[in-house]
Amino acid sequence: MGDASELSAALIDGKILSRSVTDALSSRVRFLAEHGVCPKLAVLLVGDDPASQTYVRSKERLCKKLGLASEVIRLSDDISKGALLAEIARLNADPLTHGILVQLPLPKHLDEREILFSISPDKDVDGFHPANVGLLASGAPRFVPCTPKGIMSMLDSIGCEIEGKRCVVVGRSNIVGKPIAQLLLARSATVTICHSRTRSLADFTREADILVVAVGRPRMITGDMVKPGSVVVDVGVNRVDGKLCGDVDFESASRVASWITPVPGGVGLMTVAMLMENTVESAERSAGIII
Ligand code: NAP
Repeated sequence: MGDASELSAALIDGKILSRSVTDALSSRVRFLAEHGVCPKLAVLLVGDDPASQTYVRSKERLCKKLGLASEVIRLSDDISKGALLAEIARLNADPLTHGILVQLPLPKHLDEREILFSISPDKDVDGFHPANVGLLASGAPRFVPCTPKGIMSMLDSIGCEIEGKRCVVVGRSNIVGKPIAQLLLARSATVTICHSRTRSLADFTREADILVVAVGRPRMITGDMVKPGSVVVDVGVNRVDGKLCGDVDFESASRVASWITPVPGGVGLMTVAMLMENTVESAERSAGIII
């Protein structure tokens, strides 16, 4: 961990790190190609939410850059549950598709849980299926959700010691908060999860050697809520006056922490890189290269 006496935190740079992840993937993709396998990711996009469209485009672009095949299935926002489940069943049965992802959020009339649970656990590159959630919780992960996986890789990249550290996770979503807490716990950290009903949030965050914030409220964690010398991971993506910002007030927190992730240029880039990694991993598994 960095020196607590530093005046300004060092950046955990998602741009550099995600590039090193994708560079390492290139040789695995080439190896698969030599065995006649092209990893393929299928993305189901329901409706025309602009943020979702941007996310899907960035996934498509990265697939193309790395030599992965991608299929984006754009569906109208009034699609019936049956029709969406039929699309997923088709992809589940397609031997050339290794990863299936349903872009969230879904329109209100569709039960997110029912849809996500219909994805084959063997192709669930987001790691949201209960089979994969259970494997993660029991310490034998198969697909680890992309954002938490990216965060662990960021912590490892700076040589951040995790064992025995006090970690505070703000947010308890299935996508970020719960799985990152599991991953930190699996590395023998002492983990506290905070949420909207937590009283005196700052009392917890100020104790954190590693603070992960995934709430969706612009700049809610200010420097006075951060422990000097700590590592701060900002997962939040918020748009304020047309500009992106995180859940952490970067300016004040970076004066206190020793390491901090920026927004943009932090966790988000790692999330997409990890999606590529999970898709390649799935293709390797289906080809019998890994188990
Ligand atoms: P979510 O499902 O909406 O969950 C938000 C969590 O924050 C909930 O657990 C909620 O508590 C908690 N919360 C709300 N207000 C709070 C408060 N005042 N104090 C403490 N906790 C509070 O969100 P999510 O999907 O985890 O996403 C969180 C943020 O990360 C969003 O900005 C999202 O866009 C971003 N995100 C970024 C990436 C990336 O790759 N960079 C990936 C995923 C998400 P309750 O459970 O009690 O309601």
